[in-house]
Amino acid sequence: MTVADGPADLVLTGGRVQTHDAARRITQALAVRAGRFVAIGTSREIGDLIGPRSRVIELAGRMVLPGFQDAHVHPLTGGLARLRCELHERRGLETYLEIVRAYAESHPDEPWIRGDGWHMADFPGGTPRREDLDRVVPDRPVYLRNRDVHGAWVNTLALELAGIGMETPDPPSGRIERDAAGLPSGTLHEGAMQLVERLLPLDTPEERERALLLAQAELHALGITAWQDAWATPEVLDTYQSLAERGTLTARVVAAQWWDRDRGAEQISEIEERRGRVRVGRLRATSVKIMQDGVLENFTAAVLEPYLDVAGRPTSNRGLSFVDPVALKGYVTRLDAAGFQVHFHAIGERAVREALDAIEAARQANGPTDGRHLIAHLQVIHPADLPRFRALGVVANAQPMWAFLGDQMTRLTIPFLGPERSGWQYPFRSLRRTGARLCMGSDWSVSSANPLLEIEVAVRRVSPFSRDDPPFLPDEALDLPAALEAFTIGSAFANHLDAETGSLEVGKAADLVVLDRDLFAPDAGPIGEARVLLTLVEGVPVFEDPALGAA
Ligand SMILES: [Zn+2]
Repeated sequence: MTVADGPADLVLTGGRVQTHDAARRITQALAVRAGRFVAIGTSREIGDLIGPRSRVIELAGRMVLPGFQDAHVHPLTGGLARLRCELHERRGLETYLEIVRAYAESHPDEPWIRGDGWHMADFPGGTPRREDLDRVVPDRPVYLRNRDVHGAWVNTLALELAGIGMETPDPPSGRIERDAAGLPSGTLHEGAMQLVERLLPLDTPEERERALLLAQAELHALGITAWQDAWATPEVLDTYQSLAERGTLTARVVAAQWWDRDRGAEQISEIEERRGRVRVGRLRATSVKIMQDGVLENFTAAVLEPYLDVAGRPTSNRGLSFVDPVALKGYVTRLDAAGFQVHFHAIGERAVREALDAIEAARQANGPTDGRHLIAHLQVIHPADLPRFRALGVVANAQPMWAFLGDQMTRLTIPFLGPERSGWQYPFRSLRRTGARLCMGSDWSVSSANPLLEIEVAVRRVSPFSRDDPPFLPDEALDLPAALEAFTIGSAFANHLDAETGSLEVGKAADLVVLDRDLFAPDAGPIGEARVLLTLVEGVPVFEDPALGAA
């Protein structure tokens, strides 16, 4: 790059430019032309590229990073929740009931009251009851998923419409919560949610598109320029595709196509067909999401040793393997051979092991591939499995927002795992120490989509909503550069986007974020309080805070 090539379109100067390139260079300024970085260096070097038409942003010491990439997120769910009965933002039974009542009153024509976002820890045993909902909505069915989307709270009418009664057996991959008399009590876990969900009116394509655009705007405002959608059913893919075709999908999106666990290998040809079709603009459908287990809080995560009961005695329950582990090896081997990335959901240490075993089988059959298979969540990892991530080339997809001592952890998790296994949770530093590659994601709408909050927890292991709490397993905390790396170049690698994005390097696409402060400054304050001022994708602002101009 020389001045002879002409002035830059955009220059950012006088800041802390954290490149996350291989040399981890930190400098002051950069220049963008035609959507790409044309120079990165000191403010003085870059000053030569300022021409009469260049836009110049004085950073005044603020920080520039590669755009954040969320390696595991559910934007459509998050966007739809914004359109529906939204429980994510507030807490407590009476608060929830008030929101539901108000929503039902203001939406008299909706045949079903649908919503998301209640918190298991707000209910004894994590299981809300139908009678409470009956008090506020007796005459229409109500279906409310919890924030991790692994359970639903329903009223009596919804149970009746679904024909769920005393005699209804639990489906193979789920459980109907029952009272002492055996009557369904109003919580449906995992696969049992389907019994009601299949009755819900379908979201219209217009609603989905509106929800996805809403989500995209929210994610861009948080500095996110690319993501992996971890639940791309055919309907979700259609929504992305229509935005991409109209040119309104500004984010780079890798869609992880949903593996239907009620079917087998025969679905692979359909998944391949969709991969070929869905290749529009910044959209790719090159990943496949396999959900291998549930979650610990309702005892559906697959564990090696049984869960304990409230008195600390072993039960006979080891959770659920949603896909038979032997069949899983075959599916993963075929997907890997077909050039797919496999993106696992694995929470319990048995599910993690089953996923690793399946990838090992694929490696033995196919040799090394560039699949960059991901295991997401990784709540409990048996120590013997830690080195296998590096050995098998598996990317650890961390959701750091969960790694703190909240009531979900202290009341619903630790007592039932026991002390030893509780110490194996979210072992991010141990994974890094073994040489594993780390990427990060939010799992929004399960958790906040804000990467800075997530990075704060990765670094401190304390809730950003209760910052004076003691840290949770502080030996597993990452340092700030490592956490930033995971959310930028780490996730770009996981998304197969690292050749184009993920670091600030000459020639790469100008995807970046400007924060309102230098996170490394001694007076920076809590990481999660930093704000995004500017987000660029390929040099184009997709979010800009007016405060940016007031440097
Ligand atoms: Zn998820």
